[in-house]
Amino acid sequence: MAINATSIVEGIESPEFVSVIQHMPGGEKILTCIQCGTCSGSCPTGDKMPNTPRHVMRMLQLGLEAEVMRSDAIWLCADCYTCTLRCPRGIKVSEVMAGLRTRAIAEGYAKPRDTAFHRNFLSIVKRYGRTYEAELLLRYNFRLNPFRLLKQTRLGLAMFLHGKVGLLPELIHGRGEVRRIYETVDRHHAAEQTE
Ligand code: SF4
Ligand code: SF4
Repeated sequence: MAINATSIVEGIESPEFVSVIQHMPGGEKILTCIQCGTCSGSCPTGDKMPNTPRHVMRMLQLGLEAEVMRSDAIWLCADCYTCTLRCPRGIKVSEVMAGLRTRAIAEGYAKPRDTAFHRNFLSIVKRYGRTYEAELLLRYNFRLNPFRLLKQTRLGLAMFLHGKVGLLPELIHGRGEVRRIYETVDRHHAAEQTE
């Protein structure tokens, strides 16, 4: 018998939301989550999240749409895929997290600070064809909080001394091709919005 929201828990806040998640890439199996906590125990950023990946899975099962969509947890996910690799039920937790971020933007839940890292990262890759960590750190921290930038200077210096960030960006040969990918995506978005 197919597992559906109502066969698991009565009184789900939004069965429609559960259904939406089940139709998202990776969300097909969320109702089979047994709350074992393997994902949370493996998550490198879980201790910074207000809701661990296990909590997020449970909130999804319960259809707690607003709580999930407003949770900082989805923005603190680093897309490392450890949870997806280790989940004993084969739930693609990382894909679900990515889908939740996309939905949070589309539905107006995402705040500018939520998307600041992604927007800065994308604009840097568009310009150089690859990431440029020094500029990303400067832009991201400055946008969040200029005082935070001062605090992060020591970290940036240590990273530079260990060869983790360079002073100048490395340019790739195919920058024009990367830019064309962005332009194609922009055109698709514009076309979708006029439909
Ligand atoms: S590892 Fe899988 S089954 Fe365990 S809590 Fe996380 S999502 Fe649920
Ligand atoms: S993909 Fe995200 S949620 Fe999963 S373990 Fe990595 S950081 Fe945590």
